[in-house]
Amino acid sequence: MQYIFLSHDVDWRKQGPPLEHILSRKDRFEPELFEKTKPEDLYRNIPEYMEIEEKFDIRSTFFFRTFYENGDVLDYEDDIKQLQKSNWEIGLHTDPSSIDNLDKIRLEKEKLESITGKQIVGNRVHFLNYNPELPNKLEKLGFNYDSSLRHSKDRIDEKEMGYSRIHGIIEFPVTLMDAYLFTYMKIREEKIISEFQKTLDLGRSLSENNVISVIWHDNVLKMKGGR
Ligand SMILES: [Zn+2]
Repeated sequence: MQYIFLSHDVDWRKQGPPLEHILSRKDRFEPELFEKTKPEDLYRNIPEYMEIEEKFDIRSTFFFRTFYENGDVLDYEDDIKQLQKSNWEIGLHTDPSSIDNLDKIRLEKEKLESITGKQIVGNRVHFLNYNPELPNKLEKLGFNYDSSLRHSKDRIDEKEMGYSRIHGIIEFPVTLMDAYLFTYMKIREEKIISEFQKTLDLGRSLSENNVISVIWHDNVLKMKGGR
């Protein structure tokens, strides 16, 4: 059996990035789509992801931050409740400035739980700022798993698949992520599907119970070239 852990990191505030940021990426959107979509909606794709995944009868995990530049996670309250109601998982997208401090992680977790109304068990650090002391802290706070680890930025190999147990935390290394595929591995849009196929095949050849962990950022669905 092969398992796919599909997830979306929600990196931007609900209102999207500043207008200049969007305008400087104008050529990464289809012209027609760019014209007819409000700038603040170009990065917002939660309902679209839900629709796609519903069609294939799958559920993913959305990792939300609790710090957004000029925004607030509470702006996402309706999305989070909607996702949760339909059995998507909500995880914490911890800020890199929190990870060395147990209380800071605790506060982030509690803030997100004040919206979900139930325990958050999954964590991923923004920018994948993993460090070896993190799993121990996460265990103390009642998390079950983390998925912040990646050994390289430009390789897809055995080390970036499967999972390991560290201090009672199940650690899923990130196998495939839009940002690394496009930016560091320089893979073009039209080659992405075959790259996924190759990775799935490699996973199947390695072990019977293989896990491939995928990040496809929430904001890149309408945009070429990834996060
Ligand atoms: Zn992030």
